[in-house]
Amino acid sequence: MNAPLPLTVAREAAGAYDRVASVTNDIAGKLAQRLAKETQGEVLFSPADRGRYATDASIYQETPVGVFVPRVAEDIRLALDICRDLKVPIVPRGGGTSQCGQTVGAGLVIDCSKHVRGILEVDAANRTAVVEPGLVLDHLNAALKQHGLWYPVDVSTSAQATLGGMAGNNSCGSRSIAWGNMVHNVLGIDAWTADGQLHRFGKFDEAAGFVRGIGEQVRQMAGDLAPDIDAMWPKVLRRVAGYNLDVFRNQNPKPYTADGSVNLAHLLVGSEGTLAVTRSLKLQLAPLPRAKVLGVVNFPTFYKAMDTAQHIVRLGEGTLTAVELVDRTMIELSLQNPAFAPIVRGAVIGQPDAVLLVEFSGPEKAPLVKHLDRLVQLMGDLGLPGSVVRLEDDGAQKALWEVRKAGLNIMMSLKGDGKPVSFIEDCAVPLEHLAEYTDALTQVFRKHGSRGTWYAHASVGTLHVRPILDMRQGGAPKMRAIAEEASALVRKYRGAYSGEHGDGLCRGEWIQWQFGPRITEAFARIKDLFDPQHLLCPRRIVDAPRMDDTRLMRFPPSYKVIPLQPALDWRGWDVQNDPSTEKTTRPGTGGDPAHGYAKAVEMCNNNGHCRKFDAGTMCPSYRVTRDEKHLTRGRANTLRLALSGQLGPQGITNPEVRDAMDLCVSCKGCKRDCPTGVDMAKMKVEFLHHWHARHGWTLKDKLVARLPDYARHAARIAPLLNLRNRVPLLARLGEKMLGFSARRRLPEWRADHFFRERPATASRDQVLAAAKPVVLFVDTFNGHFESENARAALALLQAAGYTVHVATKANDDGGHLCCGRTYLATGQVDEARRKAREVVEALSPFAERGIAIVGLEPSCLLSLRDEHLSLGLGAPAQKIAAHALLLEEFLARELDAGRLDELKAKLRPVTRKILVHGHCHQKAFDAVSPVLKLLKLIPGAQPELVESSCCGMAGAFGYEAAHHDVSMAMAELSLLPAVRNAPDAIVVADGTSCRHQIRDGAGREAVHAAVLLARQLPAA
Ligand SMILES: Cc1cc2nc3c(=O)[nH]c(=O)nc-3n(C[C@H](O)[C@H](O)[C@H](O)COP(=O)(O)OP(=O)(O)OC[C@H]3O[C@@H](n4cnc5c(N)ncnc54)[C@H](O)[C@@H]3O)c2cc1C
Ligand code: SF4
Ligand code: SF4
Repeated sequence: MNAPLPLTVAREAAGAYDRVASVTNDIAGKLAQRLAKETQGEVLFSPADRGRYATDASIYQETPVGVFVPRVAEDIRLALDICRDLKVPIVPRGGGTSQCGQTVGAGLVIDCSKHVRGILEVDAANRTAVVEPGLVLDHLNAALKQHGLWYPVDVSTSAQATLGGMAGNNSCGSRSIAWGNMVHNVLGIDAWTADGQLHRFGKFDEAAGFVRGIGEQVRQMAGDLAPDIDAMWPKVLRRVAGYNLDVFRNQNPKPYTADGSVNLAHLLVGSEGTLAVTRSLKLQLAPLPRAKVLGVVNFPTFYKAMDTAQHIVRLGEGTLTAVELVDRTMIELSLQNPAFAPIVRGAVIGQPDAVLLVEFSGPEKAPLVKHLDRLVQLMGDLGLPGSVVRLEDDGAQKALWEVRKAGLNIMMSLKGDGKPVSFIEDCAVPLEHLAEYTDALTQVFRKHGSRGTWYAHASVGTLHVRPILDMRQGGAPKMRAIAEEASALVRKYRGAYSGEHGDGLCRGEWIQWQFGPRITEAFARIKDLFDPQHLLCPRRIVDAPRMDDTRLMRFPPSYKVIPLQPALDWRGWDVQNDPSTEKTTRPGTGGDPAHGYAKAVEMCNNNGHCRKFDAGTMCPSYRVTRDEKHLTRGRANTLRLALSGQLGPQGITNPEVRDAMDLCVSCKGCKRDCPTGVDMAKMKVEFLHHWHARHGWTLKDKLVARLPDYARHAARIAPLLNLRNRVPLLARLGEKMLGFSARRRLPEWRADHFFRERPATASRDQVLAAAKPVVLFVDTFNGHFESENARAALALLQAAGYTVHVATKANDDGGHLCCGRTYLATGQVDEARRKAREVVEALSPFAERGIAIVGLEPSCLLSLRDEHLSLGLGAPAQKIAAHALLLEEFLARELDAGRLDELKAKLRPVTRKILVHGHCHQKAFDAVSPVLKLLKLIPGAQPELVESSCCGMAGAFGYEAAHHDVSMAMAELSLLPAVRNAPDAIVVADGTSCRHQIRDGAGREAVHAAVLLARQLPAA
C-alpha cells in the first residue's frame, strides 16, 4: 500500500504549532507556525494540500513539507528567511505545468501564481514590460493588445504558464524560429538569492557588487572552458539544459542579445528555480503581427516531410513564423471528430502521411501571400506539385490551429495504464538530420514494443513524441533503454537532448552526458556561488537523481488502489491498452480494484489545462478562488491520493476529499474541456454516494433530493410554503435549521402547476401512430415552478404541426416522470436509478420507434444522454439517449430538414436586443448553437451569446448559505455584468437555476427560449 502522507492540518498554524509538531517533525511545525505568524500568505500544510503540490505535468511525485501561497512579493522574502533559518529547501512554482518534474520537491513549495501576478510597468515606446513572476502569459498579452504589442514566446500553455515559470524553464513557443526562446526575450530579472538579498540581474557591463562578482567568476569559467564549450555545447536554438554558461561564449544560432552584450539575467533563465527566486522580470515585447497566412503542405511520407523542413525554413525573408508538424495519426484522430473533420478535410489533399503548417506573419497580408506563392513553387521544385493548401483567411487559419491542439488532446486521452510519457519529447536536432533522426527513433520505439505520435516544431528541429509506457509495469527500465538509444541518436546528429521542456527530474542526470564532466563541474560551482547551502530546489540541474528512480514517481510499481465498489458504471475506464496499436481491452478488464473509478481519476495527467480564466466553462470554482484545491486538477489529485490510500485508510470518504469537492458546481465544463476527459461532475456523484453512505444525509439533502416526490403534495399548500420568501424571520430560520441562504428567494410553489392543469395532448397510442410525432418530457422544475415554460414548449411544437404527447409514467401513480437529477446531486445513486428506470420504462416505446424525446431543462434532459448511461440500465437507456433532445436541438434539426416552414411563417418580429446565456450542460453537449439558430427564426432577432461560464447557482448549490458568496462571485465573473450592460435586452436562459441567479443578481427576468418563441406566435 502507498505510504500515507504523515502530516496533519496546520492551516491556521499560528495557534497550531503544538498540534502539528506532535504528529510530525519539529521543523515542519515550526515552519508552518512562523509562516503563519510572520507573513500574510496562506500556509497549506494538510496532507491533501501537500499531495496536490506533489506533482506537476510530469510522471514524478515528491511530497513537499508544506505549501506557501504568498499574498505579496515581500512574503516570498520572508519565507526565504524562515526556510534558511530552519534549513528547509524551497521549490518556487507558477502554474505547475512543467513536464519534467521541475516543481516537484521535498521542501516548501511557494506558489506565486495566486497573488504575485501584477504588471508593474509597460513602456510601449521602448516595447518593454516589467511583471511579477505569477502573471500568466495570456493575461499579459491581453493587457498589451491595446498597445499593439505582445510577448512573443507563445508556449502552448499560454493560458496557464506564468512568466516566472517560463523564465525558470527557458520556455519556447511555436514561433521560436522568429522570436527565439525566453532567454532571447528577457532583459532583466530582480531576484532574491538564498541569503534573502534582492539583486538586479541585467547587463554585465552595468553590474556592480554581488552580481558583478558572480558575472566575473562565470566569465572566468567560460574562458577556462572555452575548448569544452566549443566541443560539447549543442549548436541549436533549442538547447535548454544546464545553466547558460555560454552567455560569455555564445553557442546559440540566435544571439542572446541584440547588441551582442552579456546579460546576467540570462544565467537565471532556464535555471529552474535553483539559483534565485524571481521577484520581477523585465521583458522585451514585440509588435503584434497584424497579418498571417498559412500554407498546409501535404506529404506522401513522414520522411519526406522531415527532409523538406530544412528547405522551407529558408523562405519568408524574416516573415516565416512557424513550421509545425502534424502526423498521420493526428490527422486521423481529428477526422474522427465531427467538429474538426470538415476543417481537416479542407486542409489535406488525399491521405497524406504528414502535413507541415507553414505560417508567415507580418504587418500586411499582400507580401505574405507572395511568400505563400514561393512555398508552392518550392514544393513543385522538390517534386511535390499541388501539395499546398493555401489558407489566407484568418478564421480558417485559426480553426486549423485549434485542430492541431485538439489532435494532441485526443492522443493524451488514451485509456489504460499505458500512457504517452514525456522524457525524450523535446530533443532538438539540426534540420538536415531531422528525417534520419525521426526515422531511427521510430525504429527504437518499435524495438521496445511501443510507438510514438509526432508533432510540433519542425522549424527548429524539436519534435514532440511520447512513447506509450506503463510506469507501473516495466515502464521505468524501458524508459531508460529508450532514453539511452535516443541520446545516442542525439549525439550522432549533434543535437540537444533537452530542447524545450527543461531538465527537472527527468533530464538532470543527462546534463553530464550532454556537456561532459568539466562543464558539469562548472554548473556545480555556479550553483555554489548563488546558493552555497543548496536551499533552492536542491538536486535539480546539479547532482540530480536518476530519471528512472521509481521512488520519485507518481505511479511506481508498488502503486495500489483501495478496493471500492462504485455506485456508477465506470467499466469503460477499467481497460488496458496495447502500446503499439493503442487498442484497448474490453470494459471491465483493466484490473482496477475500484472497477474503473480509480482509472478514470488517474486520467488527469496534471497538464493544468483547467487553470483557465477565459469565459469558457472550465473551471468556475478555480476562477473565483484561484486555489489549487478548487481546481479540476486539484480535485482529481485529491481523489487519486485518497483512492490509493495516500491520505489515510478512510480512502474516498476522507474529509479532505469532501473539502476539495465542496465548490465543484458539477457544471461539466471539465467533461467538455479537459483534454483527457476528466468528468468531475460524475466523479462527484460517486464521491457523494460513498460520503453520505458513511456519514448519512442532512435534512437539507433529503429535502433537495426528494423534491420531485413531494412536489405535488407541497403544491397544494403553496401559499403557506411561499411565506418563507415573504417573512424574513422564516428565511432566517430556514437558514439556521436547513442551511438554505436567507439572502435567496426559493422557487415559488404554485397550485396551478402544469402537471395539475395539464393541457389535453396526444395519448401514447396517438403519438406512436402520428405522422409528425414528438414526446415532451416535462421536468419537475418547469412543470411545478415555471409551468409557463412547459406550456410555451407545447404551444410551439403544436404550432409547428407536431402531434405532442407529454411523457407520463408507464405505471401511473399520480406523480410525474423525473430524471432523478436531484438524487444524483446528493449522491443517492440507487434512488436516481429507480427514477431513471421509470424513465426507461416510460420512454422506450417511443425511442424504439425513433420518436424524439424533447425536454426543456438542460440538466434534466441531458442526464438522459449522460448519467443514465452510467446507471447500468443497458441498451434501452442507450436507445433513449440517442433520441433525447433539448427543444431547440430538436427544432433546429427539423429546421435543417425543411420541416419548420409552418412555424417560421407564424412568428412575429422582435425589436429588442436578445442576450443568450447558455446553461453549462448545454455547453458541455454543444447544445447552445441550436438555441441561437432557433431564435434567429424570429424576424429581426439577432441573438447575442454572453461569453459566460457557470451562473454559479448550479442546482441547489447557490441556495446554500455556505455557498452563497462563491455562487455570486461566479455570476459576477461575466454573466451578471453582461446582463446589466444591456438594460433593454430580452435575456434568454434555458436553465432554471440560471434564470433565478439572473433575477437575484441583476434584478432581471430571464426567459426560456421556448417562452420567447411562443410569445411571438399570434394569439390563439
Ligand atoms: C500540454 C503542455 C504543453 C506545453 N507546451 C510547451 C511549449 O509549447 N513550450 C514550452 O516551452 N513549454 C511547454 N510546456 C511546459 C510548460 O508549460 C512550460 O515550461 C511553462 O512555461 C511552465 O510555466 P509554469 O508557470 O507552469 O511554471 P512551473 O511549472 O510552475 O515552473 C517552471 C520552473 O520555474 C521555476 N519557477 C517558477 N516560479 C519561479 C520564481 N518566482 N522564481 C524562480 N523560479 C521559479 C520552477 O521552480 C520551475 O523550475 C508544456 C507543458 C504542457 C503540460
Ligand atoms: S483535470 Fe484535465 S485539464 Fe485539469 S490537469 Fe487534469 S487532465 Fe489537465
Ligand atoms: S464540474 Fe465544473 S466546477 Fe466541477 S471540476 Fe469540472 S469544471 Fe470545475
